[in-house]
Formats: sequence, C-alpha cells, structure tokens
Amino acid sequence: MKNNKGMLVVLSGPAGVGKGTICRALLAQAADLEYSVSVTTRGCRPGENEGKEYYFRTKEEFQKMIENQELLEWAEFCGNYYGTPKFHVEKALNNNKTVLLEIDIQGAKQVKKMYPDGVFIFIVPPSLKILSERLYGRGTETEDIIQLRLAKALEELEEIKDYNYIVENDYIHAAVEKIKCIITAERCSTSRYPLKIKEE
Ligand code: 5GP
Repeated sequence: MKNNKGMLVVLSGPAGVGKGTICRALLAQAADLEYSVSVTTRGCRPGENEGKEYYFRTKEEFQKMIENQELLEWAEFCGNYYGTPKFHVEKALNNNKTVLLEIDIQGAKQVKKMYPDGVFIFIVPPSLKILSERLYGRGTETEDIIQLRLAKALEELEEIKDYNYIVENDYIHAAVEKIKCIITAERCSTSRYPLKIKEE
C-alpha cells in the first residue's frame, strides 16, 4: 500500500445493533484483520474477559492513561469511559495491517481528524423496534440504562452522514459479507494501492 501504511476500519452504531457479534464474525473470517481492544471503566459483563472484549480499568486508571497520552481517542458513554490504546493501533498500521476499531460516534469523530483516510462504517438496525427488542433481550442492562441507550441511539442516527458506508444489520451473515466487501474494495482503491506494479 502507499506509504507502507495499513488501513483503519472504524465500526460504529447504536448499542444493541449487533456490533460485537459482527466484529467477532469478521475476525473469525478475516485472519488479516487486527482488532483494537478498548479500555473501559464499565463493569465486565458475564462472558467477557479482560484483554479480549476490553481492558477493564478504574476511573483513576483511565484518567492516568489520558494524562499519559496513551489513548488515541476516548469518550464518555452513558456514564462510563471508553478509549482506544494508541500503541497497538499505531504499531499495526506501521506494519501495514488492517485494524478494526469498534467505537462510538464521539470517538470516531476524533479518529477521523487523525486518520481522514480511514474507512468509517455505521451499522444500522432494520428498525427502532428491533433495536429496542434486542437491547431488552440481551438482559445485561437495567431499564434506566436501556432507556438511556435508546435515547442515545436516536441521537447517534443523526450523525450517519459523516460515515463512508452504512450497513444494515438485518442478518448477521449478510452484514458481515457487506463489510468484507467494503474492506476488499477499499484495499483496491487507487488512493491506497501501490501505483507501481512489481517487477517480479
Ligand atoms: P458497550 O458498553 O455496549 O460495550 O459499549 C458502549 C459503546 O461504547 C458502544 O457504542 C461502543 O462502540 C463504544 N466503545 C467501545 N469501545 C470504545 C472506545 O475505545 N472508544 C469509544 N469512543 N467508544 C467505544
């Protein structure tokens, strides 16, 4: 690729839209993708593991990371802090890797300023009713938090225009296929592809 730099793929979308499931499926199917594990101050949900879904940290530890400029971006989301460790992303990009970030809109805006040629994908639910059913069905949040997350979802849907692509998550398999196609197309883009054909 041009400048020997990798490609940043940013996935956002309302809570409950299925970003986590999509990311897991993508990573299982695309061995050449590197997932950027975020840091969060929210509690660990059943089934989540330290260093796999997130690095779980206290607010004080998170604050230290901000002060030490260890985060590429960070945001407060529904009362908790979330951030992307800088080191891993920069290292992977320098090694010509494709890095997948699953972050909220506020974080994506910060990343876009630093990496305007990143690929920004917004996942939308087939309908708000389905989104609400998925949030309740997940059973991991209290009623208050679900209401807060639904309100946030409506707010976020206003910001879709700043993304490069919209993928509807009607069926996981179809959504994942679309994202894989986007990544393949972006890798072939004249703005990324080396404009010199190898001699041998
Ligand atoms: P959840 O608590 O459901 O795992 O995540 C809540 C929200 O935080 C989601 O919209 C998710 O995309 C976002 N998020 C996860 N990691 C990060 C991060 O590193 N930075 C930012 N800005 N948002 C994140």
